[in-house]
Parts: sequence; C-alpha cells; structure tokens
Amino acid sequence: MSAYQSFIGLEIHIQLLTKTKIFCGCRSAFGDEPNTNVCPVCMGYPGVLPALNKEAIAKAYLVARALDCSLAAAAVFERKNYFYPDLPKNYQISQFASPVGRNGRIALELSGKVKRVRIHDVHLEEDAGKMIHAGDVSLLDYNRTGTPLLEIVTEPDLELGEEAEQFLQHFRRLVRYLGVCDGNMEEGSMRCDANVSVNLAGKGLGSKVEIKNLNSSRFVKKALTYEIARHTELLEAGGKVLQETRLWNENRDLTEGMRSKEQADDYRYFPEPDLPPFTADPSFLAEVEGALVELPAARRARMARDYSLSDAQLDFITEEKERADFYERTVALGADPLTTASWLGSDVKKLLNREGLELAKSPLTPERLAELLVLLGENRIHGKIAKQALEVLFAEDKDPAQIIREQGWERIDDAGDVAGFVDAAITANPQAAAAIRGGDPKAIGFLVGQVMKTSSGRADPQLVHQLLRERLQSRVTEDSDANASD
Ligand code: ADP
Ligand code: ZN
Ligand code: MG
Repeated sequence: MSAYQSFIGLEIHIQLLTKTKIFCGCRSAFGDEPNTNVCPVCMGYPGVLPALNKEAIAKAYLVARALDCSLAAAAVFERKNYFYPDLPKNYQISQFASPVGRNGRIALELSGKVKRVRIHDVHLEEDAGKMIHAGDVSLLDYNRTGTPLLEIVTEPDLELGEEAEQFLQHFRRLVRYLGVCDGNMEEGSMRCDANVSVNLAGKGLGSKVEIKNLNSSRFVKKALTYEIARHTELLEAGGKVLQETRLWNENRDLTEGMRSKEQADDYRYFPEPDLPPFTADPSFLAEVEGALVELPAARRARMARDYSLSDAQLDFITEEKERADFYERTVALGADPLTTASWLGSDVKKLLNREGLELAKSPLTPERLAELLVLLGENRIHGKIAKQALEVLFAEDKDPAQIIREQGWERIDDAGDVAGFVDAAITANPQAAAAIRGGDPKAIGFLVGQVMKTSSGRADPQLVHQLLRERLQSRVTEDSDANASD
C-alpha cells in the first residue's frame, strides 16, 4: 500500500435544457448566430429586473432530488461580485447561503464495488457568454449569457483519475435520463473543474490544486492522474504542493500553473435584491417528484432481473433512456427479449449508423420492431427476410407486415408450392440427388440450400427437408443434417 492517499472533488456545471434563459425571455440555444439571443436583462443594462424561469428552477430541484439532496424550502439567489466581459453587469446571480440542494449522494459501481460520493451542494446560477480570441482582438458572443447553469459540487470522495472519469460518465447518463442536460462536454454544455490533493495516508486532505479547461472525461482522467503523480513526487522529495489553479494542456499532456490561490476569493456575496427567495411549496415539490424517472443504475439492476441479457447488452440498452424505453416497449408488445436486444445491438444499430439517424428519429418504432420480431418468432418469415424487411422499413417508412405482403416475402408452407421448388432443384442437380440417394448428409444440405436460393429464402426449410427425403428416399437420419438449412 502506498504511503500516500489522494483526494478528488469535482465541480460540475451543466447547462439546463430550457427554452429560454434563466432571468429573461431570450432563447437559450447553442449554435445560433452570435448576439441574436440577447436583451437588456441578459446584457446587464442598468435598471432592468430579472424574473426567474420556472422551468430552470424545476430542473434544478429535479437534479438535487435525484442526487438525494435535502431540498431548500426557500432557495435564495445571491450576487457574486466580479466583472467579466462576457457577463457585463459586474456580478453573477448565483446561490450561496441557501442553494437548491445540499448533502446529497450518488452511488456508482467502480471496478465491481459500490462507491458512494457525497454531494456538497447543488446550486443554480446564470452562465457567462463566450469570448473568442482571434489574433489581436477578442470577440464577444452574449447568446450564452444568462442561460441557466447548474453547479454540482462533490465532496473529495474520489481517489483516482479513472474513478473521476467513470463518475462523470455515470453523471452524464443521469442528467440525460432526467432530460435536464445533453451532457455534451465538447460543446461545453457539461463542464468540469477537478480538485485534487495528495497527503500521507491517514493525515487527511492535502494542499489542493484545481484543474480547469477539461472538456472531456478522458482529459479529466489524464489530468488527475498526472497531478497525483506530480504531487506524490513532490512530497516524496520533501517538497510542498503549491495551492493553485492549473490548466490542462491537451497538446502536451500535462498541467500548467495558471494562478496561485493562497486565500479564498472574496466575492462579497449578498442576496439579490431584485429576486425574492423561491419557495418550494408542496405542489411544486409534487411536480418535481412527478418528473423523477427510474435512474440509470436502478434501471440497469431491474432490467438485469427482468430479462436475461448479457452485461454488454445491458450496458448498451441502458446507456440511453430512449433506448431502454424503446427496448422495454418492444418486449411488452410481444417480441422476444433476447432477440430484441441482439437486433438493437446489431442490425438496427448498423442501419442507424449508416443513415446517420437516432433511434427516436428513425422510421423504426417499438410497434414496428415488435411486429417484425413476432413474425420471425412465429416462423412466418425467414431470418434473412426479416433483415431485408428492416432495410425496406428504413427506406420506405412502412410497417413490416405491409412490406412482407407487398414483396411477397411470406414463408411458403404450402406442400404443393414447395414441391415445385424441390423437384426443380432435383432436376437441376442430378449429382447431388444421386449422392443423397447414396446417403450423403452434406448433399442434402446443399439441395436445401438450392431450394432456399431459388425460393428467395421463402420455402419452409423443414418442409423442404421432408420432401427431399421422400422424393429421394434418403437413408440420411434427421439428426445428421439438422443444421443444414440456413
Ligand atoms: P474553494 O473554497 O477553493 O472553492 P471548496 O471547499 O469550496 O474549495 O471545494 C471545492 C471543491 O474542491 C469541492 O469539490 C471539494 O470537494 C474539493 N476539495 C476541497 N478541498 C480539497 C482537497 N484538499 N483535496 C481535494 N479536493 C478538495
Ligand atoms: Zn435576454
Ligand atoms: Mg468553493
């Protein structure tokens, strides 16, 4: 065991998916023409009044509730004083004394063990805009200024870079399940600052370094792993770790000092005089409760009990709530659980990738997939036909039963019709026919294959077998050619 112990606490910011900004009616959207979603309120003109967006506060409480926080009976907004060019009113409206939630926890599985991470608090604030530095000039885009931002602060309960990475992936899935944030770290709708310290084991927290500029969970892992090694080396050499803010340099794979942080910043928080505290009355709390969904970890555990799927299938299906919902709806409509899982993970996935579509926006619905898989399960169509039907479904946006009817793909199980194909195959392949008469099991497989080909996969393979045997009085037994048909 190492003589040293490491501590990691994360400060995660998520942009809440609301139609409008937090204190004004401007559109809250990523990627619009710069400075088109602005008004005097979010531009910080003197004398304007903020009005709290109900959707933003509801989503903030929802996250706090999902993280098992104690919820504020009255959430207070405060001014955090500083000037940034992209938040030009000299202060940011945030929360300090009475945030939306406190003392929460999140449990996740890390290398087979359940790890509990305490949540210090969840608070709601307004985001700053964007500064784009282009050569000698800096450009300002205020579209993001005043969009609702939720900050989740963990206690320093994580230890390793990999754990922080997995925590973030878990957290991202959670906020996506809740539908409060798209979790896109590259576009900045989910951002993370990582705090880390190292100390002699048993001595408690060490001197803290905060790492910024981390726009993927992989960088969070790399930066923390780098920092822990750097701190450990420094301490082993008898040195001290400077308390500072560092930046991750993704081109050089290392952290660089940005500013030292000897004492706490003094933001002179004081209550926002233009916003009354938000009172979470019983009807509001009931709404929050109603918006809560089965969370990813619980859902995965339940689905592991309800369907016998492999770990990989469970991971894939529960990765997105939409996918898990789609899966369970398809199964509820009568499709076989295993077949549904394997189709979603292979044929459906391939087609979605090829067409560049999301499941929810594709022509495939749970109703259609269930219809197709029930036809397959009842042996009314052949496996290959089912795959072809899926292709047509994507191309023509039709129901499987209709496709199969229109294409004439229903299985041929009329003995007279199948006999026609069988006799033609015998005539066309006299050598194989002779071999079957001589008792060669491979030859029967070959002829079945021929019939399947000439009937475009539609002839009932069992009937084909039976007729071939009758016609050729084969001495081949049932068992020896059982798998020859596909
Ligand atoms: P600050 O006052 O510098 O903002 P906070 O106490 O508010 O620090 O904590 C900010 C984040 O840093 C939290 O996620 C917390 O868990 C983490 N943190 C605080 N102290 C340490 C430490 N010594 N080592 C690692 N993480 C820490
Ligand atoms: Zn505005
Ligand atoms: Mg702090």
